[in-house]
Amino acid sequence: MTFDNLGLSADLLATVAREGYTEPTPVQSAAIPFILAGRDVLAAAQTGTGKTAAFVLPILERLRGHANAGFSPARHPVRMLILTPTRELAVQVADAVKTYSHGSSLRSMVVYGGTRIDPEIKLLWKGVEILVATPGRLLDHIGQRSVNLSQVEVLVLDEADRMLDMGFIPDVRKIVACIPASRQTLLFSATFSDEVRRMAKEFQRDPEIVEVAARNSIADNLTQVLYPVDQSRKADLLIHLIQRDKMEQVLVFTRSKLGASRLASYLDRRGVSCSAIHGDRSQTERTRALEAFRGRFVKVLVATDVASRGLDIEDLPYVVNYELPYEPQDYIHRIGRTGRAGASGTAISLVSPDEVEELRGVQRLLRKSIPCAIVEEYLPDPERQPEPASRSRGGRTGGSRSGRPWSQSGRGPAGEPIYSRSQPAVAGSR
Ligand code: AMP
Repeated sequence: MTFDNLGLSADLLATVAREGYTEPTPVQSAAIPFILAGRDVLAAAQTGTGKTAAFVLPILERLRGHANAGFSPARHPVRMLILTPTRELAVQVADAVKTYSHGSSLRSMVVYGGTRIDPEIKLLWKGVEILVATPGRLLDHIGQRSVNLSQVEVLVLDEADRMLDMGFIPDVRKIVACIPASRQTLLFSATFSDEVRRMAKEFQRDPEIVEVAARNSIADNLTQVLYPVDQSRKADLLIHLIQRDKMEQVLVFTRSKLGASRLASYLDRRGVSCSAIHGDRSQTERTRALEAFRGRFVKVLVATDVASRGLDIEDLPYVVNYELPYEPQDYIHRIGRTGRAGASGTAISLVSPDEVEELRGVQRLLRKSIPCAIVEEYLPDPERQPEPASRSRGGRTGGSRSGRPWSQSGRGPAGEPIYSRSQPAVAGSR
């Protein structure tokens, strides 16, 4: 399949060629023809599959007729609205829109909370055809009458599953009430949970379903590996791995904001250049941290799950789970940051004895065990009681509830294998 067969016009084909895309990704081949035909589309596609171009390219094609160089704001009403759950994803999608619409007179902009609203209002008053927004900030604009959505033709709900997780549906409902019912609605989600399907029913009309990647599938070019280690020695093991494997760009996930800050300052003190991105940091700090990482001024970016949504860093070679997430699905989201669009990647999990329950959950979801690698000097101390990793939810204590959850032979409390030293060691492990 090539881009030529999809129905895009010559200038958009030139744009994709300029970006170096030689062929459409599966979600692009499947979704673009439906979107060009004006159909609603419900697509299961994770970040990294090329989903942004899958909705932006055909919509630019459909909006071509509206492109004009007029000065009057009335000539530039909002025609396409893209809602995203996080500021980072909003910025990233807006960047993609700018890239793909380069050379067209269609205007685009992004609005999101945590920054001053006045500059956004001034730009909105000038008129803009494509608006990317987070729900809360857009509602502020609607309240202040700085935006009019009565001429929106296309609504995109990006990362709909995360919008549900973050409790944005009431906000989305209020926004949708300001948009004509005759719109085209595109809903993208990493997963098709029952809630996502309900959301599709509420906001879409007879959508075409595009499900290119199997549920919970992981890119083939992604290597997964876990290292057993006591919680208190994880930071040192991480430094050891970074040095041993000469890692250059490493995205590290922690469960908590506090854990992210602590790890970042520890790495910094130990001479590993590092920045952190989490909900407690201001938008400017987050953008700065991300830019430093993207520009390779720092080696390590420490992030929490929520703050990391939508991060798009090209060719990211390593993702590290400093702690396994509470929700197994978040493991898939996290490691989806590497091995994107065909590049190879490695997802490393540092797993301590008290995380056996989370490990089981992840392996159940993957329907396979994650290969285990051993660094002898960092193996958990069999004499030591497991120290709980930072737990903030409902007092869960995981494996430690039933006493020592594993032995060095890699067995759980009931003697079942959790991971074993006899499992084949993976490349790069010692
Ligand atoms: P997304 O899933 O939209 O976050 O896109 C992930 C990455 O894939 C982005 O860096 C895009 O620039 C890139 N990309 C999108 N479409 C293609 C394509 N057809 N070929 C190669 N890379 C692509």
